[in-house]
Amino acid sequence: MMPIDFTLTAYQRRLQRVAREFANEILGPLVKSADENSDPQKAFASVKAAYVESYKLGFATGFIPKKYGGGGISNVDLQIVVEELCAIDPGFATILLVNGLALMPLVWFASEQQKQKWLIPATGDPRGEYLAGWSVSEAAGTPGGTANFDGPGSFPAGIGLTAILDKKNGEYVLNGRKFWPANAGGWDLQGADANVCIVRTSPDAGGSRGLSAIVIPRGTEGITYEQPISKLGHRICQNNSMIFSNCRVPEENAFAIGNGDLVVNKAFTWSGPVAAIASVGVARSAYEFALSWAKKYTGGGDKPIIDHQIVAYTLAEVAMKIEAGRAFAWKAAHYHDLHNADGHAVGPMSKVFCGEMLFNAVFQAMKVVGVNALDRANPLERYLREASVFPLYDAGNVGMQMRKICAVMADPAFDPRAIASSAATPFAKQAPPPET
Ligand SMILES: Cc1cc2nc3c(=O)[nH]c(=O)nc-3n(C[C@H](O)[C@H](O)[C@H](O)COP(=O)(O)OP(=O)(O)OC[C@H]3O[C@@H](n4cnc5c(N)ncnc54)[C@H](O)[C@@H]3O)c2cc1C
Repeated sequence: MMPIDFTLTAYQRRLQRVAREFANEILGPLVKSADENSDPQKAFASVKAAYVESYKLGFATGFIPKKYGGGGISNVDLQIVVEELCAIDPGFATILLVNGLALMPLVWFASEQQKQKWLIPATGDPRGEYLAGWSVSEAAGTPGGTANFDGPGSFPAGIGLTAILDKKNGEYVLNGRKFWPANAGGWDLQGADANVCIVRTSPDAGGSRGLSAIVIPRGTEGITYEQPISKLGHRICQNNSMIFSNCRVPEENAFAIGNGDLVVNKAFTWSGPVAAIASVGVARSAYEFALSWAKKYTGGGDKPIIDHQIVAYTLAEVAMKIEAGRAFAWKAAHYHDLHNADGHAVGPMSKVFCGEMLFNAVFQAMKVVGVNALDRANPLERYLREASVFPLYDAGNVGMQMRKICAVMADPAFDPRAIASSAATPFAKQAPPPET
């Protein structure tokens, strides 16, 4: 066998075909009107039937190990599916991605009993409607924000949603607000089936010691879901504002107590290559539209514009970037398959690289097409809006993902050749240890 081989296996080709058919035939017809719907909750709800189809195909929980009813799909195989979905709509794919951000932390950090309790219903929903929310991000303000969630400061810096243990009743009592979590409101704004929330369990401790994760099932009292945020791009996925007021959650729903920072870091590392290939999917669609346009459109001249060297060169540059981005995303996913998703440098690197590549690629495609790229009858203006999301979501590149890459590199034991040779790149808690 060749040590490096980009040829898809028969299984991967089948995955690609099924994902492509789903994206083109079931999702595709819904995208334009959902994107244009001024009511974000209605836009989200309008793709519910497509979500149910995707659930039945195994896309909604395929990444969960088979032991817990999931598809046990590898990170590399997941790449194949995500590129196809995102070539049609990255907002829809985000709904599926967020299931992973919420549920994979249970796979990595929860007790066996908790895995059985929360993962089996996630993978075995006969209705195919199951949604998991991943609630880390918080509203703007001072201190507010999310990027410094693991900073050394005590409350109110960093994560502001507190969960204080009421030992008498064996319950955590949650107060505060989350802002931006996807899926969290569920199809009816009454809550996702399960919400995995990052909370501050020790208000006096810094972000690397005082944070934990807790699962909040649908129907829990003390949470208000406000109308979802109306966004520039990814309009199909739901982003929530949740207000917690003396919300009581059983103590046994908590996990990774005191290690919530590791949960956040690992989840957003796992998702790095997924966001990377999602960028490639959008870039591919922008490129294919511009290429096809350039072969037909003359701009009032006597030949198609692709016959002008500057146009052809621009398209060639876009094509190069897409190929480089796909190779990087696959490499990072492969690394995650080898290292249990602990690619805390290469995962974020692929996400940052491909997200920045995408925005540039779409704009180059727009320059090829010219003024008609701005016409909303053509898809490029939407791709530009979708592209703008990538560097900012899934843990923003500047404040969160780059910090992880730098933390890995700054470790005195870091081997700069480790990624190339697929060796481990250790990553640990970032803030200083508690004073003794
Ligand atoms: C479509 C979509 C889906 C999303 N889904 C979810 C979800 O499911 N769950 C969830 O919890 N969140 C979700 N989010 C939010 C998303 O993950 C954000 O990336 C996250 O909230 C962090 O935003 P931020 O990096 O802009 O942080 P902020 O704290 O708002 O920081 C803003 C800016 O401040 C600067 N900054 C702050 N601190 C530093 C620092 N230490 N170093 C350098 N610069 C710094 C940077 O310029 C940064 O961009 C989603 C967002 C979108 C758009």
